[in-house]
Amino acid sequence: MYYKDEYEFMSDSGHEIEGIWYPRVTTIMDIKSKPALYHFYSAVGFANGEKIKEQSANEGTLVHEAIEAILVGEEPIIDASIEPSILAFKTFLEKTPIKTRPELIEQKIIHKEYRYAGTADAVVTIGDRLGILDIKTSKSIYRDYNLQTAAYFDVLKKDYPELSTRWIMRIDQVDVCEVCGATMRRKGGRDKITKPWPAQKACSPANHVWKDTEGIVELKEFPGSHTNDFEAFLSAKRLWEWENEFWLKRIGYL
Ligand SMILES: [Zn+2]
Repeated sequence: MYYKDEYEFMSDSGHEIEGIWYPRVTTIMDIKSKPALYHFYSAVGFANGEKIKEQSANEGTLVHEAIEAILVGEEPIIDASIEPSILAFKTFLEKTPIKTRPELIEQKIIHKEYRYAGTADAVVTIGDRLGILDIKTSKSIYRDYNLQTAAYFDVLKKDYPELSTRWIMRIDQVDVCEVCGATMRRKGGRDKITKPWPAQKACSPANHVWKDTEGIVELKEFPGSHTNDFEAFLSAKRLWEWENEFWLKRIGYL
């Protein structure tokens, strides 16, 4: 990454809290290679890929805001572009109640000992357990999310001793072909069609018959303690520090 000066580096990579600068969890996670990104950029081209990513991020923000408002009992106005996702979420809530409070949403976390900062989407109770809920609008639930949530968990367990688990809630929406079952995901202005299985069942591309958009809600709990994931996060952080040594020394972090 190129930075104009230390101010740009500091604002791009972290937060200053009470006069101390901390790197951001999501920035640290960028050190880990994500092979799916290469496929994505080669399929759509780099400039276009950047645009799609930006628009997807905006859609992701809309979904986060709506979900978090609903979780605390508000009735937010829903942007038409994300309506199927939010309807699916409301249906999901009827079967799986999720309890939280406004002060448990979007909490800023700081790990003073290991020096990093971030924002946890929500601390919630599902069933009889208290855990971290991270909301994703990605195409699937990636294992990388374990590292991110472990970083939040290690901070929040000090404030909430009864905190016992981590959940990822993936919220998405797709159009389904009523002939062959292929799905089309309209994300970031890009229509991505996934063939049904087995692929021979698929209509020819011009022949799909798209039904209304369906929302998808998937809740996944991470098994086991957060320790293994947290160690991996700290290793990623160490590598990130090594890569950014020049700037980190300039700002007095190293
Ligand atoms: Zn079809």
